[in-house]
Amino acid sequence: MKVHFFGTSAAVPTLRRGLPAVGFEREGELLLFDCGEGTQMALQRSPTKASRLAGVFISHMHGDHVMGLPGLLMSLQMASRTEPLVLAGTPGLQEFVTTNLRLVHVRLGYDLEFIEIREPSVVYRSEEYEVVADRLDHRVIALGFALSEYDRPGRFDLEAAEALGIPKGPLYGKLQRGEAVSLPDGRGIEPGQVVGEPRKGRKVAYVADTRPCEGSVRLAENADLLIHESTFEAGREEEAHAKGHSTVGDAVEIAKRGAARALALTHISSRYESVEPLVRQVKRQFSPSWIAEDGMVIELDREGDVLSVTGGRRRGARAGDPASAVVTGE
Ligand SMILES: [Zn+2]
Repeated sequence: MKVHFFGTSAAVPTLRRGLPAVGFEREGELLLFDCGEGTQMALQRSPTKASRLAGVFISHMHGDHVMGLPGLLMSLQMASRTEPLVLAGTPGLQEFVTTNLRLVHVRLGYDLEFIEIREPSVVYRSEEYEVVADRLDHRVIALGFALSEYDRPGRFDLEAAEALGIPKGPLYGKLQRGEAVSLPDGRGIEPGQVVGEPRKGRKVAYVADTRPCEGSVRLAENADLLIHESTFEAGREEEAHAKGHSTVGDAVEIAKRGAARALALTHISSRYESVEPLVRQVKRQFSPSWIAEDGMVIELDREGDVLSVTGGRRRGARAGDPASAVVTGE
């Protein structure tokens, strides 16, 4: 699974940071979380493709998180998209999108499936994972999201199966699916004799604009990667909370309370020409961690471990040691 950072700024874009947008890509399918202005250009510069988009999830109806959506939808139309697209978010999203498209005389050749989210809930399901939304604490109704894969069946132990004399064929499939079977000679075999423990699905969480809150902790819980807003540096909690935001210190605390395994901070105030102080703060307190950059891609392996961190303007990273990757704002 790859996490693409398309835009990592807060409120206003800078020459180095676009407005908020993060993509989760797995098995050739892309889910977009927030869609700030300019997201479609960032998508074009990225190694993934807009044609892989299956859904867009909007954390809240503030312009910096949603203004990129009408343009992106129009470009998908120009690319002759026909597959439906899920648009999930807080109340107002549907009206925003349909009004925009109507006023500029756009008729899409594909369907939009709007999901208006009012309560913490599962908002999207595929065969292999679900996306849950939970309540954040911002100045307007705001949501965070987590993609959780379902656990996969354990590994089938061929040697054990052969040693037990289980004939190859449909019995293997039944055991793999967790069913007990009877052999032709009358012996019964339990799945646990040949199938290992279920393999845990991965979890990646996206916590957008918020003060520290319990919803963030629930989303962070056992996440392999937590993406958390960090508008300000640690020490500026009063200002951050008054504006409905978090600091580096807040994000670290949420990651620790949720026992997240890796932490990437995004939604960085445009006041930081250099993010070195933020990098130092987060590195001291949480490992592995990164201050995200536009164009950065974090790849997780099947076990949810960070496999690589590429893109952005990373410095100081040693191959094979993602924990050492230092992201600088210079
Ligand atoms: Zn924001």
